Amino acid sequence: MSAPKQYDFVIVGSGIGGLSSAVMLAKNGYSVLVLEKNHQIGGALQVFSRDKCIFDTGVHYIGGLDEGENLYRMFKYLGIYDGLNLQSLDRDCFDLIRLPNGKSYPHAQGYAAFSANLIQCFPEEKKAIDAFCVKVREMCDFFPLYNLEMGDEQTYYNNPEILMLGAWDYVCSITENEDLRNVLLGSGPLYAGDQKSTPFYVVALIMNSYIKGSYRLVDGGSQIAKLLVKELRKHGGEILKRKEVVSANFNEQKEITSVNCSDGTSYAASKFISNMHPTPTINIFGKQNFRPAYRDRIAKLENTVSSFMIYFSLKENSFPYFNYNIYDHYSMDCWNSVKYDVNEWPHTLYLCTPASSKSMEYAESLCVMCYMSYEEVKEWENTFNTVLNPSKRDEAYQKFKAEKEQKIVERMELRFPGFSEKIMNVYSSTPLTYKDYIGTPEGSLYGIMKDYKNPIATTINTKTRISNLYLTGQNIIFHGILGATIGAFVTCFNFIDPEETIKKIKEYEK
Ligand SMILES: Cc1cc2nc3c(=O)[nH]c(=O)nc-3n(C[C@H](O)[C@H](O)[C@H](O)COP(=O)(O)OP(=O)(O)OC[C@H]3O[C@@H](n4cnc5c(N)ncnc54)[C@H](O)[C@@H]3O)c2cc1C
Repeated sequence: MSAPKQYDFVIVGSGIGGLSSAVMLAKNGYSVLVLEKNHQIGGALQVFSRDKCIFDTGVHYIGGLDEGENLYRMFKYLGIYDGLNLQSLDRDCFDLIRLPNGKSYPHAQGYAAFSANLIQCFPEEKKAIDAFCVKVREMCDFFPLYNLEMGDEQTYYNNPEILMLGAWDYVCSITENEDLRNVLLGSGPLYAGDQKSTPFYVVALIMNSYIKGSYRLVDGGSQIAKLLVKELRKHGGEILKRKEVVSANFNEQKEITSVNCSDGTSYAASKFISNMHPTPTINIFGKQNFRPAYRDRIAKLENTVSSFMIYFSLKENSFPYFNYNIYDHYSMDCWNSVKYDVNEWPHTLYLCTPASSKSMEYAESLCVMCYMSYEEVKEWENTFNTVLNPSKRDEAYQKFKAEKEQKIVERMELRFPGFSEKIMNVYSSTPLTYKDYIGTPEGSLYGIMKDYKNPIATTINTKTRISNLYLTGQNIIFHGILGATIGAFVTCFNFIDPEETIKKIKEYEK
C-alpha cells in the first residue's frame, strides 16, 4: 500500500479566508489540501435555493471593488475578479438609513457625494460631516495592507493608541445632533456596532471600503467560493467536502503530523492552517497544546451577536427591486440594539433585494436580517440540523420561528403597506443555523468582538503555540469579505514574500 500523500499545507475550513490562503499558497508552488466539513463550500458564502430563488446566507454586498481599489486588486491577484458577476449598487445611495421618525438618509459612493448628500440633509452639520470623512480616511491610513503598502512608521502596530478610539464616543464628540449620529453609524449591523465596544477603526475600514465601491453578487455570493476553488485546482490544489476535522496527531516535537476527520480519514502535511474560530481550533487541536493564558484569553473574549434571517420569495413582478440596502431603525438608540429588549424586537432591520440575472426591475426575493441573541435559542442548543446531518427541531422551535417571522412581516407591512400580499413563501434561520453550518460559537455573526477598551486582547495572531499551526479568517484583522481576504494575506506572509506579493497586487490597476 502506498504511503498517504504528504501535503505542504492542510487548511481546515473553506471560508473566504481558507480558500484565499489556499489559492495564494498554491500559486506560490505549495501543495495544498482544503478540508471542509459541509456539503457546500464557502462558509458564510453559502447559498440555498427555494422557489427558484437563490438566497445568500451571509454576504449581501461587498466593498472595495471599484477599479484599482484594495479588494479589486486582491481579487485580481487571486485570479477571480474577471469571473465575478457583479451589480454596482446605486452610486448616489448604496445604503439608505431610515430613522424611527420615518425620514430616510442616503449613504452615497465616493467621498464627495457621500458628504454632499449628508450636508444637504443636515446643512448646519457640515463641519461634523467633513470631520467624520477626514477621520475615516485618516484611520484607514494606519492599516498598511489595507492600502496595499508594506508599512512605515504610521501603522496601527506602531501606534496602538489609535485602536482605542470608540466609534460611538467619537461621533458624539463631533456632533450633538442625534439624527446625524444615527445616520453616520446607521449601517451598524454590518459590523454589529455597539456603543460600549466598537472601535472607530472597524467602522472606518468597513465604511471606507463601501464608499469606494459597493457591489452585490448577482445570483449569490457562492460564486466567489466557486471561482477560488477553480483557481486552486488550476494551481494543483485540492479540496474535499464533507470532511469534518475532529482531532490531530502530533510527533515528539509537538508538531502536528496529520488531522483526523469524523469519517475516520486522516490527512498529513508539514503545516496546518485553521480557518475556524479560535475556540473550536483550540478544542480540536487539543487544549493541552496551548498556553493556559492564551486559552483563558480566548475563552473570555466576547463574540459578536448572532442574527435571525428571514427570506421571502415573492410573487412574480409584485415588488420592485431596489438597488441599495435599507437599514430600518425603530429605535433612536440604534447602537444599543445589539442588547435589545425582547418585547420590542426587532429594533433594527437590514433589508435587501438580492440581485438576480432574471430581472432587475422586480425583486424575486427579499432578505431581512435582525440581531438575535443566542440566549433566545439556547434551549435547543443541543440539537443539530444541516443538509448533511438533518434532524428536525421540535414544535416549540418551529413556533418560536413562526412568531419571529410574524413580527418581521408586521414591520414590513408598516414600511411597505400590502407587503404580505406579495409573499410567496417565508423561510428563516436562527443563531443555531450559523452555529451548525459555520461552527462559530453561539452562531456569532462576525466572530470575536473588537473592543476599543482592550484592543490587544481582541487581536488574534496568525501564529500559535503549536509551531506548525497557523490561523486565518475573519478574526485576524477584521471580518467581512475584505477583512478575511486581508487576513489571508497576513497568514500567507508567514510563507510567501510580502514585498514581492504586494508589488504584484499593486500592478493590477485595471
Ligand atoms: C449573516 C451574515 C451576513 C454577512 N454579511 C456580509 C456582507 O454583506 N458583506 C461582507 O463583506 N461580509 C458579510 N458577512 C461577514 C463575512 O461573511 C465573514 O466575515 C466572512 O465570510 C468570514 O470568512 P472566514 O474566512 O472567517 O470563514 P467562515 O465563513 O467563518 O468559514 C469557516 C469555514 O470553516 C468550516 N469549518 C468549521 N469547522 C470545521 C471543521 N471542524 N472541519 C472542517 N471545516 C470546518 C466551516 O464549515 C466554514 O466553511 C456576513 C456574515 C454573516 C454571518
